[in-house]
Amino acid sequence: MASQQETDQQVNETVAVDDEGFVVDTEDCEARELAFRERGTSRPITVVGNPVLHQECQDVTAFDEELARLVDDMFASQRTAEGVGLAANQIGVDRKVFVYDCPDDDGVRHVGHVVNPVLAELPPERRVLDDANEGCLSVPTAYAELARPDYAEVTGQDLHGNPIRVRGTGYFARCLQHETDHLYGRLYIDRLSKRDRKDALRQMPEGTPRYPVVPNN
Ligand SMILES: [Zn+2]
Repeated sequence: MASQQETDQQVNETVAVDDEGFVVDTEDCEARELAFRERGTSRPITVVGNPVLHQECQDVTAFDEELARLVDDMFASQRTAEGVGLAANQIGVDRKVFVYDCPDDDGVRHVGHVVNPVLAELPPERRVLDDANEGCLSVPTAYAELARPDYAEVTGQDLHGNPIRVRGTGYFARCLQHETDHLYGRLYIDRLSKRDRKDALRQMPEGTPRYPVVPNN
């Protein structure tokens, strides 16, 4: 996910979890993000129209060195593009993986990755919609208001194959939903009304992305 328009960021191998079994992704953020990114190579970002963004990605079945390198490259690419979240198909890789480096509404930074994410269904009383501006590195320079639940839980695995659960509120909840959507072939503009989608796409050619992109044929 793109950083908010108004504003313009070794490592534990075992996953720390809180009392409720959710990943603790708020500690040692700077060191963890740096370690991934420094091992990785930044890659250009795919943009709307590229088929890899519009189809469900493949499940990850091998938790090997190649997957670890992919996560490294995703952190490097996310940093170059100044994103707060990045899905594998945004660097052209057809695998269900996303990374994030995202603040919540309390200004707390969350850094992590999820392999094979599945968004948990929320009971109706937890579905409180939050209207906010959303952007995407794959829809460069465009933004649109989109209502989404202000709380999200994602289950999946870490890059070693350990089962994990991640939860977030506010802007970070939005990020978790946005990135999971990507891996099922859905962009945030696909959730907009026809008119708003058109408006967002129209904003694209008016701006120039601040990061390398993969040209569409
Ligand atoms: Zn996106």
